Amino acid sequence: MAAEREKIYECEVKRKRLKTGGGYEPFWKVKTVAVALSDSDTEFRCKDCFGEVKLLGRNSKTGTAPYVEHKAPADSEFCPNGLLFKKATDGREPKISAHPVE
Ligand SMILES: [Zn+2]
Repeated sequence: MAAEREKIYECEVKRKRLKTGGGYEPFWKVKTVAVALSDSDTEFRCKDCFGEVKLLGRNSKTGTAPYVEHKAPADSEFCPNGLLFKKATDGREPKISAHPVE
């Protein structure tokens, strides 16, 4: 049996918006991974802990949605959306990544 994988279908993507007074400023926007891909977004992070994520399932067969998982197991252990966090039985508190994507 395959190991259980983390599958997160929503992420944050980096976008730019017009700043008052001119120029652009970056901001993070929550999207489903499928929408982010169809919008050609390139910078992703976890929407809950802001940690780095890996993009997976992009070329999988129709009917399955692309998703992300944490790159660092340490993020997954303390992210409210992390597989390892959800499995932890020690009543730990969630926290954001030690190395958040800025
Ligand atoms: Zn996370």
